[in-house]
Order: sequence, then C-alpha cells, then structure tokens
Amino acid sequence: MAISYKPQLQYVDFQDLTEQIRFQSTEGKIWFGEQRMLLMQVSAMAAFRREMVNTIGIERAKGFFLRLGYQSGLRDAELARKLRPHCDELDIFLAGPQLHSLKGMVKVIPIEIDIDQETGGFYGELDWIDSFEVEICQTELGQMDEPACWSLLGYACAYTSSFMGRQIIFREVSCRGCGDEKCHIVGKPAEEWGDAEEFIQYFKADPMIEELYDLQSQVSSLRSSLENQQGQYYGIGQSASYNKVCKMIDKAAMGKVSVLLLGETGVGKEVIARSVHLRSERAEQPFVAVNCAAIPPDLIEAELFGVEKGAYTGANQSRPGRFERANGGTIFLDEVVELTSRAQATLLRVLQEGELERVGDNRTRSVNVRVIAATNESLAEAVEAGKFRADLYYRLNVFPVKIPPLRERLEDLPLLVEHFLKKFHSEYNKRTLGLSDKALALCMNYQWPGNIRELENVIERGVILTENNESISQDSLFAVFPDNHSEKPHEFVDGEGHVVHGGMSNAAGGWADQILGNSISLDEVEETLMRRAMDQAKQNVSGAARILGLTRPALAYRLKKSGILAEG
Ligand SMILES: [Zn+2]
Repeated sequence: MAISYKPQLQYVDFQDLTEQIRFQSTEGKIWFGEQRMLLMQVSAMAAFRREMVNTIGIERAKGFFLRLGYQSGLRDAELARKLRPHCDELDIFLAGPQLHSLKGMVKVIPIEIDIDQETGGFYGELDWIDSFEVEICQTELGQMDEPACWSLLGYACAYTSSFMGRQIIFREVSCRGCGDEKCHIVGKPAEEWGDAEEFIQYFKADPMIEELYDLQSQVSSLRSSLENQQGQYYGIGQSASYNKVCKMIDKAAMGKVSVLLLGETGVGKEVIARSVHLRSERAEQPFVAVNCAAIPPDLIEAELFGVEKGAYTGANQSRPGRFERANGGTIFLDEVVELTSRAQATLLRVLQEGELERVGDNRTRSVNVRVIAATNESLAEAVEAGKFRADLYYRLNVFPVKIPPLRERLEDLPLLVEHFLKKFHSEYNKRTLGLSDKALALCMNYQWPGNIRELENVIERGVILTENNESISQDSLFAVFPDNHSEKPHEFVDGEGHVVHGGMSNAAGGWADQILGNSISLDEVEETLMRRAMDQAKQNVSGAARILGLTRPALAYRLKKSGILAEG
C-alpha cells in the first residue's frame, strides 16, 4: 500500500519524541531515549567546520560532515521504529524530520513524501528552514559555491535508507548557503539518480591517512634518491674535455656494456660509476662499490663472490658476495688491477656466462650484474707484465672512458668550488662568503695531484676554519702553501729588459740572493752541492754525477780537486 504525504495533511504531533529527552545534570548527562546526547554551541561547531575546511579542503570536509550526519541518521531510524511501533509508515518516517527539528538543527517542512514499502518505492521533497549549517556558513565561511547543508543531508540519506531498507539518496537541489532562496531537498532510490555512484563516494570513509603514508613513502624514496646523488659532482663542468666524458657516459649508461673508467686517483671515478648506474635501466636496483685494493688478496674472492660455510678457517657462515648483493644492478670495481688471478678468472666467468660459484660451493648461481671497472694504472701494461689476464682486459675494455685530471680542466674549478661550498655549508650549517680572490687564484694555479677529492677536502677545511659571513682565505684552505712556482715555468724580464721564458724562477732568485747576501763563495756552493749529492747517492760517484747532471769523470775530478774524494 502506498502512502503519500501532502501539505494539506496534518503534521503529526511529536510529543512522544520530546518526552525522550532527560537531563541528568548532576551526573553530567543528557539522554535521548537510550542515547547520550550533547548540547553544544553552534559557534563552536562553526569554528570546527571552518578549521576542517581549511585543513583538509572543502571536498574532504563535505564528506566528513555528510558522514557525521549519516551516523546520526542511522541511529534515529532505529529509534523511530522503536518509538512508534503501531503507527503507519508515514508517521514512523516523519519521526526523522521531527527529530531534526527537535535537536535544533533545522525546521523541516515535508512537501511530498511517497512511500511504498512493498515495492520499496520512495520519493520525498522537503524544505529546510533555518538550517544551522547555513547559519554557520554565513558567520564563518561566507557564501558557498554549492549547497552547504552537509550533515543534514547525510542524516536524511541515512535515515531514509535505513527506514526503507534500500539505498535512498537525497540531494539538496537549492540551498540558502549558496545564495538560493531556500534549502530544498529531493530524495529517491540511488538507481533513479544518474550520478549516484559519484555521490556515494562521500559516504565512504576517506583513507586520507593512507594517502599520507603514500606521500610519506614517496618523500622518503625521493629523499633517498637525492641522497644517492649527494656529493654528486657528475656533470659539473664546462670544459671541452669533461663535456666529452659526460657525453660518452650518457651514451654508455643507456646500454648494457661494461664500462672501464680510467684516470688518476681522486678524479671522481666512483661518482661517475654511480651516475652511469643512475642513468641506466638498473637505477632502481642496487649499486655496490668495491675498492679491490682495500680488500686483502686472500679474502677478495669470498668478498666478491660469496663463501660457503667451512670453505676455509673462519668461514663460519655462508654468505653472499658483493656480486650477489648487486644482482639486477651495478657493481663498481675500483682498482680492478689488484684482483688476484683466481678472482680475475671468476670475474671473467661472470662477464661471459652470468654465473658464479661461491668459494667452497659446488652450486652454480646466476647473477645479472653490470660491471663498471676502474683503474688508475694502465691495464694494458698490467697485461704485458703478466699481472692481468688479457681476455679479461678485452672484456672490460669494451667502453673505456678516460677522465681528465683536475689540472687539465681548471676552468671547471670555480663551478666545483661552488658545488662543494654548497655541500659543506649545509653539512656544517654555515654560510661563508666563498673563496677570496687570492684563494681562488691560488687554487687556479695549483696542480691538484689529488684531483677533485683533494679539492673537496681543501674546501671542507676552508669552510670549517672560516667564520660565517667571512671569505675563505688562502690560509684556511691550505695548511702549507702549495709551491706553484717550482712547478710552472715563469716569464720574467731579465736585466736587459728581455722577456725570458722559464729558466730562473722567483724561487731560484730567492736562494741566489740568499747566497750572495751571506758572502758565500762559488767554491763553497759547489762543494756543498757535491757533498749533498754524494750523501743522497750513498757515496756512489756515478749516482751523484747523475743527480748533478755531470759525467762520472767530471765529477770525480772536481771531488778530488776539492778534497772530498781522496786522490787515487
Ligand atoms: Zn541548505
């Protein structure tokens, strides 16, 4: 049987509901039937709502308040059936709108309500007068762009759905909160709304915490990839020689070939190896760096390829080697020339067959590891000297890249200095004004035998020793000034006004002046030089002659003449 409510029908009295309210003020409780209630200020709710909107955004806040109303609606539907057991469906249903009014949330005017319990048919249209949520918007948030009676709407949906035993959705088709003349809601079964699915999403608890966790893990993975690149000075430089290297590295990175990095110590081979890895398809997989020179020769096999328990004294446990740990990724073998011949043989097998056996094991394991090897000695010479296997050399030498020493790319030095300043400023939480002009000039004239690593150390020292907002002086960079003068030929003007290249440097001029100033004779100088040379050569005349640039007979003659060597 279908029941319809039309405005001309009497809006039933709700005394039965009012009687459910009990104040138990001495106990600090208010009851509605069996439910404990709260009396709270609308203004407090308004402040809360504003904060929610500001904190989680309007869409999430809307879902939040819809669900708040939803929970309340579910409980009231249960209550309505309990309180009006003998009434007709419509009277029972109207308990919902009446409860809304009773709680002071909104005055509800039913316009049309059609309920058919047999078929589950439902249609409802109601007006809301003086919604507390409209009031909240007006005081706290201003006019909204969309209907604003969120918790009221959630209540209507939950109450009616629970009442009908099927999903009924109400929509607020006009709302004073967004400037309409009145708040008006329409309700019907979910499937009769075209876009119910979208709306129902609001009633699903919002897994914001999962999103936060997800973001957190994204942040930590970004951070670790940044850490990966920290200390990275790959790509810093504008010199032609270095740019050429970078181009080659970028090309090599994308491929699968082994790469052989050549260059002096400290030029940044590991940094470049890491860059190859990070630019390759293996970037997400492990990068393992091994300095072959730092591992004792009798342990290197076990260290690289793993070991089975009992393989030798001290092998108390089976463990994987660096190659197994780098599986899927990249291994960087620095000072590869230091590998023992057995380790060289195993490495060759890894490169050729992609498999290895741990020390003391019979089981063959397959590994997929890209090898980047490095050396600061010539591998070709090591092959010639019988120290390094020729077949392994050819395998490793598929893509050789020679990294220039810093002294051959001094134009890159200022950029590298900038890079290290930034790094150490953040590491030591300092802010110096950078290198003084003199300090920079000193750096530009220095030969940097330890290359970029030495520069990094020098800049670190400078940052440590310099106060905030002061320039890094040459004294704080170098404990002892590097003697550039003896390394680089000078140009100077001689007594006749000619520019002379090389030859006597300022330093040489210095000691000459000293000798002359102390009235030391030429004979004395010669004698002193010969004695020092003889000492250095352990009294070997041929050796001393070589040091002094003389023939043996010439030196022997002078030694005898000055009485250093007895006449024979
Ligand atoms: Zn409204």
